[in-house]
Amino acid sequence: MALGIYIHVPFCRTRCSFCAFYLRIHREDWAEAYVEALTREIRLHAAQSSLRGRLPDTLYFGGGTPTTLHVGQLVEILALVRDSFGLARQAEVTVEAHPDSVTEEGLQTLRGAGFNRISFGLQSADENELLQVGRKTERASVDLAIAHARAAGFTNLNLDLIYGLPGQTLASWHETLAQALALAPDHLSCYALTVEEKTHLQVSLHRGDLPEPDQDRQNDMEDQAALRLAEAGFDRYEISNYSRPGFACRHNLLYWQGGEYLGLGPSAQSYLNGCRFGNVEDLTAYQAEVSAGRLATVQTEQLSPAQRQREALVFGLRLIEGVSLNGTSEGAADQWEQKLQRLEREGLIELKADRVRLTALGRRFADQVAVELL
Ligand code: SF4
Repeated sequence: MALGIYIHVPFCRTRCSFCAFYLRIHREDWAEAYVEALTREIRLHAAQSSLRGRLPDTLYFGGGTPTTLHVGQLVEILALVRDSFGLARQAEVTVEAHPDSVTEEGLQTLRGAGFNRISFGLQSADENELLQVGRKTERASVDLAIAHARAAGFTNLNLDLIYGLPGQTLASWHETLAQALALAPDHLSCYALTVEEKTHLQVSLHRGDLPEPDQDRQNDMEDQAALRLAEAGFDRYEISNYSRPGFACRHNLLYWQGGEYLGLGPSAQSYLNGCRFGNVEDLTAYQAEVSAGRLATVQTEQLSPAQRQREALVFGLRLIEGVSLNGTSEGAADQWEQKLQRLEREGLIELKADRVRLTALGRRFADQVAVELL
């Protein structure tokens, strides 16, 4: 079974209005204290042999914006992970980056240190749409960051896009897709905007400062992306993810294929040995725990075999190829049979031989299908 490590870097330069991730606005002293605490956490897990000597196949620096840290700090963390746990020879090592927070020299250093996949948040090619949600990325800096990443030897490059933004039209989304394709990425993540609780976006919508999201238009945008990216040679392998052949994100696949992962940093989630656990969602509390020589774990749940099978089904359904029902225990299969048959009658899933997958309609209601099956 594949094994990964996720590192949550909880800093950004500004907060996008739709973002619900745990993070703080970057401050140099907080970042230094965070790196020190993360170092302690890695050593604690290594001392406890949390990975039981298994080599991780993927390492993913996410957040937040990992490149708010200095390049030297990122390289130091990667070296410590390698020394503490090892990494498989062909491990995928991803860093999420903001185009404004990377330099040519810095990208060369990251590539030289072993980072081999980079993910830039483009979101939209329309600067006004970005301003509406509190982002200030200029197109020129995206072009430059990508050119520098390619020159540094990043042959595996992702762009994140978002659709359903306030004021976004089908025409402007089409233009964003065209401009993203012109940047020749190897992978594209196209996320539907969701209005999360307690975000600035939610407040603005409640106040009536922004138009309510239009679900039909968002559905049309999803269809447009699927069509346009298929024409451009991208495989849609997950509801929101498209890749050129051979460039599916191995780290994210691990989540959907029931792989195991260790999450490090405040708010990071883990799944190891049938147990889900998560770190405290507060940088100060996280630092205090690891400084005292304790892991900052706050929620732990040991999954029963039936829960594991249900989760494998629900996560696997996000994949376009669906998920095999082979290996499902008789008890679980009996329990699901009626639900699966009903979802099939409603046109939300397809059952073929031993596999189950979402239909195009089912992908629109993936969360509701998941709730039905969990
Ligand atoms: S850059 Fe990403 S992580 Fe940071 S606030 Fe925006 S959406 Fe959230």
